[in-house]
Amino acid sequence: MLGETDLFRVFVDDRFGGLTDGTPIMNMVIVTEELSRACAGIALAFAGTALGAIPIILSGNDEQKQRWLPDVAAGKKLAAFALTEPQAGSDAAAVRTTAIRDGNHYVLNGTKQWITNGGEAELYSVIALTNPAKGDCRVPVENCLAREGTGFITAMKTFDVSRPGVGAQAVGIAQGAFDLALEYACTRRQFDAPIGSFQGLRFMIADMAMKIEAARALVYATARHVDRQPKERPTLYAAMAKCFASDVAMDVSVDAVQIFGGYGYMHDYPIEKYMRDAKITQIYEGTNQIQREEISKVLIGGFHSRRSATARAA
Ligand SMILES: Cc1cc2nc3c(=O)[nH]c(=O)nc-3n(C[C@H](O)[C@H](O)[C@H](O)COP(=O)(O)OP(=O)(O)OC[C@H]3O[C@@H](n4cnc5c(N)ncnc54)[C@H](O)[C@@H]3O)c2cc1C
Repeated sequence: MLGETDLFRVFVDDRFGGLTDGTPIMNMVIVTEELSRACAGIALAFAGTALGAIPIILSGNDEQKQRWLPDVAAGKKLAAFALTEPQAGSDAAAVRTTAIRDGNHYVLNGTKQWITNGGEAELYSVIALTNPAKGDCRVPVENCLAREGTGFITAMKTFDVSRPGVGAQAVGIAQGAFDLALEYACTRRQFDAPIGSFQGLRFMIADMAMKIEAARALVYATARHVDRQPKERPTLYAAMAKCFASDVAMDVSVDAVQIFGGYGYMHDYPIEKYMRDAKITQIYEGTNQIQREEISKVLIGGFHSRRSATARAA
């Protein structure tokens, strides 16, 4: 059903069946946010496909884009991005899956896990090593993106572009939880008054709303930056947007459960699902510990290189 909505076109260039107007990441962010506001699971089928297609958009040649992207844009094929392995989670460089050249094919051999859209997707961007081993999944040589030896950098560049999408998912989840909590606070009565009339909850509601707006502003600003400066690596802001927005989603959804009281804890009410869905945004596409590592690496590395440059100039 999602495939019939034309939503997959928004992040694909119009030369390859998409609708993009030069703002593919902003478009992806807005669609992801709005879907997540209603259901993070459906949103993930969309965002996982964008994640699987981004390596092709960033590193594919025109022939490869023409071969694969129109079906993604038309919603005919889901895509997936396969990096994680049992021993390679946060330590993405520890992947062991191999891609060994055998005539006109690569033979893929290894174990990937937790791949969003895995099994459902018909198009997989797989990160593998091109060193010797035996295997059983044959992939034509012409499917190699960019050239051998560039897979890891393509994966990292993919995260630079896709992490604002996780941020958007988090903003949508936070907004969805907030909408329900606000309605409940205005309608549930205790002590002969709506619970939203008590200062303890009024201030909680104000804080939730401020955090959501701050997260949305950072995610949108990052998406705009990625669209306007496609040649510049937005690692710093992509990590900040993902990390900040997912922390906000976690805080806001926990507060939303609190506003619902005991009902918030029950599976029967949707609010508990928002809290669980918020949690995964702090984990995938690099945990928030890894985001903070990346942010501090850019900032501290930048400080040291500026200081060396000043010393050299003096
Ligand atoms: C629902 C779901 C969907 C997913 N979808 C995909 C997908 O589509 N494609 C894909 O490739 N992967 C996917 N993943 C995998 C996901 O990206 C990894 O789970 C994530 O990167 C963390 O790896 P890990 O689970 O192995 O945790 P670990 O790396 O084992 O980390 C465990 C804990 O240690 C901390 N830690 C690890 N290293 C450091 C460090 N250097 N400094 C501080 N703390 C550290 C982590 O932050 C975490 O708290 C998905 C996972 C889930 C659960």
